[in-house]
Amino acid sequence: MTAPLRNDSDRYKELQTLLANLLHTGQKDTHEFKTAWQESEAIKNRNGGMPPAEPCPTCGGEGGLDSGGVTPWGSPISIPCPSCSAK
Ligand SMILES: [Zn+2]
Repeated sequence: MTAPLRNDSDRYKELQTLLANLLHTGQKDTHEFKTAWQESEAIKNRNGGMPPAEPCPTCGGEGGLDSGGVTPWGSPISIPCPSCSAK
């Protein structure tokens, strides 16, 4: 099994932290700052110019939760995530 790709939201947050740190320490003209900035802009562009949304903490962005039950034909039953559907 391959490791899941880290999602854009996590990476974006990491980049914002890094950028803020570099800014606070007067390193905004460094190559590191520029590459981190470019990467964060690229992530935003992939998301239609917006910072990526946080995945739902309850279902992880799946939109449904495993109810633990199975249908008579053996498929797992998922219920709509209460956190997502509350919006
Ligand atoms: Zn959810």
